[in-house]
Amino acid sequence: MKILIVEDEPKTGDYLRQGLTEAGFTVDLARDGTDGLHLAQHQSYDLFILDVMLPGIDGWTLLADIRKSGVQTPTMFLTARDQVSDKVKGLELGADDYLVKPFSFAELLARVRTLLRRGRGGIESAMLNIADLELDLLRRRVTRSGKRIDLTAKEFGLLELLMRRQGEVLPRSLIASQVWDMNFDSDTNVIEVAMRRLRVKIDDGQGVKLIHTVRGMGYVLEVTEVE
Ligand code: CA
Repeated sequence: MKILIVEDEPKTGDYLRQGLTEAGFTVDLARDGTDGLHLAQHQSYDLFILDVMLPGIDGWTLLADIRKSGVQTPTMFLTARDQVSDKVKGLELGADDYLVKPFSFAELLARVRTLLRRGRGGIESAMLNIADLELDLLRRRVTRSGKRIDLTAKEFGLLELLMRRQGEVLPRSLIASQVWDMNFDSDTNVIEVAMRRLRVKIDDGQGVKLIHTVRGMGYVLEVTEVE
């Protein structure tokens, strides 16, 4: 799941980005409202976390502009000002939650999870399935035939992408940009290595194979019976 943070305070921004990345989210961080607006309009996110006091466009204006362009992504405001009028203003603008600084990371994470669950219309829709493989986006848990499979954050991201686009051949360049947040560099075999590890965890010893290499093209997740 992808989160956009717009926060001009370097320490807070870095801290949030690191914490949410470690919690398994893909995070983009913008340092001002102009960059934030550009990202919000051109990329797809599951959640926005917006600081109110920003240079250039402030958080209120930013959300109003985002909503005007038709993007309805759930949004949480962060602010140092503990004032009821701010809170009302934020909620009127279509914010879904409001967190007053300073806050604990645990509290932020709990609220993020609640918003994501709500945004997806209930916990059931936070599950991705194919055959007997299940991926729970909120609990960050993967099972096959009910048996828990432990994945690293990258392996989880990789599997999530494959499951969201099952049946589609995904080129390495797309995987690199979505999961590693980097441009594809043909000198690196980081994707092959991660894919091999993931495949061992998901498919080894299974009669039905799910992860497949399409030579010269990329990878696809689909059900294939072993002959
Ligand atoms: Ca600020």
